[in-house]
Amino acid sequence: MLKGGCFCGTVRYEAEGEPWHETVCHCSICRRTTGAPIVAWFTVKTGDFRIVAGEPARFRSSGAATRTFCGACGTALTFQSADHPDEIDVTTCSLDDPERVPPKSHTWRASGLAWVKSADGLPAYPEKRPD
Ligand SMILES: [Zn+2]
Ligand SMILES: [Zn+2]
Repeated sequence: MLKGGCFCGTVRYEAEGEPWHETVCHCSICRRTTGAPIVAWFTVKTGDFRIVAGEPARFRSSGAATRTFCGACGTALTFQSADHPDEIDVTTCSLDDPERVPPKSHTWRASGLAWVKSADGLPAYPEKRPD
């Protein structure tokens, strides 16, 4: 069981099952919606994820994508695409213990900032991870 939530504690969530697609995203939308140069994510089945306290605010960040965040403190929480309704992406650093779900790749690296360098040895994909 993975547990996490926003900075102020208003929104809390739990996730069961094995996470997958653990990645650090360099895309401009993650950047602009968080104010951070890169954002780490993991994916779980939508049915394995539940909000257990509070109600996150949500907005449409691109055509098929909805993002949620805490309306009180602003912590980015989830990403969901209408193209994959059975999957939900969760921000790794909203976990109580982000060390439990380390990233396994970098994605959208071609959209990334020139001054963000990584020496972690993980594969870096120019766009989304190949299936
Ligand atoms: Zn909050
Ligand atoms: Zn992104």
